[in-house]
Amino acid sequence: MTAMATDSETSVTRTGARSPNSWGLGDGQAIPWEYAPAPEAREIVTLKERYGLFIGGRDVAASDGSTFVSVDPSTEQPLAEVARATPADIDKAVRAARRAQRRAWGPLPGKERAKYLFRIARILQERSREFAVLESMDSGKPIKESRDVDVPLAAAHFWYYAGWADKLDYAFPGRVARPLGVAAQIIPWNFPLLMLAWKIAPALAAGNAVVLKPASTTPLSALLFADVCRQADLPPGVVNIVPGPGEVGMSLVMHPDVDKVAFTGSTEIGKKIQRGVAGTDKALTLELGGKAANIVFDDAPLDQAVEGIVNGIYFNQGEVCCAGSRLLAQESIVEPLIEKLKDRLSTIRVGDPLDKNTDVGAINSKSQLEKISELVQSGVDEGAEMYQPACDLPERGYFFRPTLFTNVAQSHRIAREEIFGPVLSVLTFRTPDEAVEKANNTAYGLSAGIWTEKGSRILNMASRMRAGVVWANTFNRFDPTAPFGGYKESGFGREGGMHGLHAYVRLEDR
Ligand code: NDP
Repeated sequence: MTAMATDSETSVTRTGARSPNSWGLGDGQAIPWEYAPAPEAREIVTLKERYGLFIGGRDVAASDGSTFVSVDPSTEQPLAEVARATPADIDKAVRAARRAQRRAWGPLPGKERAKYLFRIARILQERSREFAVLESMDSGKPIKESRDVDVPLAAAHFWYYAGWADKLDYAFPGRVARPLGVAAQIIPWNFPLLMLAWKIAPALAAGNAVVLKPASTTPLSALLFADVCRQADLPPGVVNIVPGPGEVGMSLVMHPDVDKVAFTGSTEIGKKIQRGVAGTDKALTLELGGKAANIVFDDAPLDQAVEGIVNGIYFNQGEVCCAGSRLLAQESIVEPLIEKLKDRLSTIRVGDPLDKNTDVGAINSKSQLEKISELVQSGVDEGAEMYQPACDLPERGYFFRPTLFTNVAQSHRIAREEIFGPVLSVLTFRTPDEAVEKANNTAYGLSAGIWTEKGSRILNMASRMRAGVVWANTFNRFDPTAPFGGYKESGFGREGGMHGLHAYVRLEDR
């Protein structure tokens, strides 16, 4: 069954494809049914007109007074003005972090640090609705994802690492774990709060102080997190937040008093950062792009696989580094699989991120929308066959239809480049060996998916995947206890689990 929904307030009309079985009551009874608009209230969020930098526990203006505007990508309307950090502000933030780490946070016993982390986790849970709405407004992601995935997982990371703060001796038996000092952390716009939690929680648990630069299109949840730090009475300077452009990120990376750099974002910038820290003794972890293969064997339960494929590529508009953007389908089932997939695509609702019925929200920025459009056009030009379900997009905002390409060759750009949008490329294979060959035939190596009924095949395939995370009969599942990271051009180092803690300590002999 599919839906046709009209949202009169935002003049969004969404129509499912008119396949006979998509009309609720079956053939001959063409009664489409509608989803009533279910908008989440914006009132839970009190937006300030202007946000400062968060340095040394205080809200401060940029040293040169400059600001930039954060925009709601679903309406193209400005949300707030945000201070734009300068290299002088970065220096101030690093000094504040160094002071706090030396005097307050580093010497604090682990069980005391844990109390702060538990407190932060609890506050995130208490203010979860506020965070979810703000995150959807600033990033364009559907409220059901920020509400059910991003914010709960962010809190879960603080709970999890709070548990480790007083148990470092158990995490690294026989060794003494010392904090590295000041961590420079740069995060992207696709999971702003969650990436903040992935980075700040383990760093603080291990006794480091941090200076974090959020992406320019999504600074607001990080600045709301600054408020959580104040509410939790975190010693000033332990967490510093410095929104600003990429160059400011680079001056943070290059600051001589930074001990550790953690970056999540594009491979291109990851390489620049790696070059920047080369020759220094800064520790570095890079979590970069991906072009994951989602492999479906002919014995897989197809309906379940279709849900996994949809979740793999259309979750968060496909703006996910580990998205299952290449579907590898065994040749014998490719036709029924594509048919089911097209049918399922016709039920996906694209529109207002704050509507609780929305599956695919707004693309994060105009430039990302342009990048997706350009790559999709290259797919058409190179001869792949494009399918998009019939659905009207809102008149304003950065939206893109869920897209499926068949007849894709390995050489096509859409099969090789990270699109970071709701675009799936379908390739086929005959044998497990061919599937392995094609799956690994990429510069990336972040994640992969395997769909089959046979446990032995799962184990065999998983061991041959050159990917940091392999999901079996599921996709895009995250857990704070599980390490996450890549091979090859997807980066190095792990976040999450005990591995994530390891990235923030120096181990010494007892
Ligand atoms: P970037 O890698 O440019 O952005 C990620 C973060 O790095 C942002 O905070 C950004 O700041 C910052 N940054 C940008 N330039 C520098 C620099 N020279 N030194 C230090 N930090 C810097 O990603 P984009 O936003 O430009 O997205 C481009 C593509 O990257 C996407 O289309 C996608 O393919 C991929 N991507 C992958 C992500 C992942 O999770 N693996 C996440 C985001 C993007 P600012 O926002 O101010 O530019």
